[in-house]
Amino acid sequence: MKLPTVQFTEQQEKFRLEVRSFLKKQIELGTFNTKCDSWLSGSDPSFSKIIAKQGWIGMTWPEEYGGGGRSSIDRYILTEEFLAVGAPVAAHWFADRQTGPLLLRFGTEEQRKFFLPKIVKGECFFAIGLSEPNSGSDLASVSTRATKVEGGWLVNGAKTWTSNAHDAHYMVTLVRTEPLDPEKKHKGLSQLIIDLHADGVEIKPIRYLTGENHFNDVFFENVFVPDNMVVGTLGNGWVQGLAELAYERSGPERILSTFPLLNELVEELKKQGDLIGLGEASKLIAEMWGLRNLSIGVAKMLEEGGEVAIPAALVKSIGTKFEQKVPEVARLLVQTMPCLEAHKNFDRYMAEAILHSPGFTIRGGTSEVLYGIVAKGVVAG
Ligand SMILES: Cc1cc2nc3c(=O)[nH]c(=O)nc-3n(C[C@H](O)[C@H](O)[C@H](O)COP(=O)(O)OP(=O)(O)OC[C@H]3O[C@@H](n4cnc5c(N)ncnc54)[C@H](O)[C@@H]3O)c2cc1C
Repeated sequence: MKLPTVQFTEQQEKFRLEVRSFLKKQIELGTFNTKCDSWLSGSDPSFSKIIAKQGWIGMTWPEEYGGGGRSSIDRYILTEEFLAVGAPVAAHWFADRQTGPLLLRFGTEEQRKFFLPKIVKGECFFAIGLSEPNSGSDLASVSTRATKVEGGWLVNGAKTWTSNAHDAHYMVTLVRTEPLDPEKKHKGLSQLIIDLHADGVEIKPIRYLTGENHFNDVFFENVFVPDNMVVGTLGNGWVQGLAELAYERSGPERILSTFPLLNELVEELKKQGDLIGLGEASKLIAEMWGLRNLSIGVAKMLEEGGEVAIPAALVKSIGTKFEQKVPEVARLLVQTMPCLEAHKNFDRYMAEAILHSPGFTIRGGTSEVLYGIVAKGVVAG
């Protein structure tokens, strides 16, 4: 596997400093508190609006839809800086990362004109509806069904683990639009945009280990979805969904979910003058640096239209193991009383990292499933 290397330009380095000083100012203003895993669990619609004003949502999308027309490397830099300070970017995350690119690739012009400018303004958030109570890794077995009626579809079924559905306006939902053929399970699936405030939609929180509500069960009972909310081609949902996964698996959010803790670990060790501990922490940093180079390489490949499914699976599986390793190493190096309400940052980040870690290697495809993809050299089994 050969991934391109990326040398940041002077302009890109300047942009990084611009983002960094903007975020520093926001922290000083008290706009947000740093936390681990902020890209999934730090939902703050008002912060998303502030980001939108900077032109930092949909920054790679064409200007005609309100986007910034900038490169994916610029977006990569922006994302890294958000994660480094644990900024609350979860509300707009899915729309920015994958719904926009999905609509640009497969959506109708009407859908692009309707949704993209709203997403860019931080006024429209999306959730991703793939997993179901009996369907996770084996997504081809989804049973939420859409039945054709005049002018649209009636949806019945349930999705689960749906991150941020309670804050989102719409959900890109994988549904069965043709009866299941056990021989060809991947056929007959379609992607529908479902208005989460429509009649017949019920959203129930599932609590994290922290007690917070970040993901949900979502139930559909005779939910009407108009024809113009079908994304792409009917029956092509499997192929379209796989294209989306490429955006999902290789970003810096698969490496940096516990970065605030790593940063604080180094600060603590410096304070204590613990040179041996700093030596151990430097091993983590070296590992992170290698992963980062892989991840940037995948971003570059994506921009050039390359096939990234396998390198993205590799980055996700190794990167999320690294995120889990950070609290494991940190607790051996610094004495801590992890607590979500702790005043001491180290103790607070430690609690967040420990309680969020189990999900890192599950969400977006479990490690075992990713190993299967890499081993077989194909995306779907
Ligand atoms: C924090 C978090 C947020 C999430 N957010 C969303 C979301 O927004 N939208 C959404 O749709 N889903 C979301 N999910 C769900 C997630 O995508 C699924 O949990 C995941 O795909 C695994 O599915 P499952 O839970 O049904 O486990 P299963 O698929 O039942 O897997 C159970 C075990 O079997 C193993 N296994 C399964 N198949 C294979 C195989 N072929 N080879 C080897 N081992 C295998 C798995 O690795 C796992 O260890 C989220 C999950 C988490 C933890």
